[in-house]
Amino acid sequence: MQTQIDKDFVRWCEDIGQFAIDRPMFDVVDEHNKLLASGSCSFATSWCWEKCYNFKLHKLFPNMEKKDIRNEENWQKITGKDIAFLLSRKRKSIKRFRGCTRGENIKDFKDIDRWEDIAIENPDTEIWIPTKAWRDPFLKREIEKRLFPFTNLAINASVDPTTTEKQWIDLIETGWSTMFVGDDERKTNPLGEPLFKCPKTGVFKLRASDSEEESAWKKKNKGHCAICKAGCFGNVTLKRRTDTLLYEH
Ligand code: SF4
Repeated sequence: MQTQIDKDFVRWCEDIGQFAIDRPMFDVVDEHNKLLASGSCSFATSWCWEKCYNFKLHKLFPNMEKKDIRNEENWQKITGKDIAFLLSRKRKSIKRFRGCTRGENIKDFKDIDRWEDIAIENPDTEIWIPTKAWRDPFLKREIEKRLFPFTNLAINASVDPTTTEKQWIDLIETGWSTMFVGDDERKTNPLGEPLFKCPKTGVFKLRASDSEEESAWKKKNKGHCAICKAGCFGNVTLKRRTDTLLYEH
């Protein structure tokens, strides 16, 4: 049976050219401190607290909390079949789908169950799952055991300047693709291998100094993640692990 899911939970995200979802980053409570929705960013680092643009957005738009509550209610009941159904009903047809653009994709073991179900029920959709859950050794092992075997899941460990070389090397040696953000000048991973330079946040990024032609060309390439073959989707499209550099500026 179809679960009752809000139509706007799976939303079109122009910036990445695919459908995506969101979850609350922090706990949402009412005026009596009653929990209305649990935050998902359990593995956020000091870098996230300082730099994440979503944290900044939250401060600017406190009303986002209402949507956060609904989003988490939807996430806690959605099934892989629901996602397949919702994607099939969308006018834009694209065989890619991204987990949270805001919030954490894998906060606990229930989230692993849900992604496993989504992977099974959407075999022809390439599903992008950035996560910091690798910071919990138990979740990390479970993800490797249960989610890595799915060839339609583009699971990426989100790493930043607080990630130690030892942690990053461990991720590489255990087969994780990684997405690094926090130093635009960084060229290699800790093993000296080149990082893939993200086109969306690099060459296609709109800048005030762009000429009219440059700006038009960049706008045309907006949503490059929909067709990007390497980078974050490398393990699905190229069948190999990748380390991606996402630009900040
Ligand atoms: S590397 Fe490709 S998929 Fe990843 S953020 Fe950049 S453009 Fe998008």
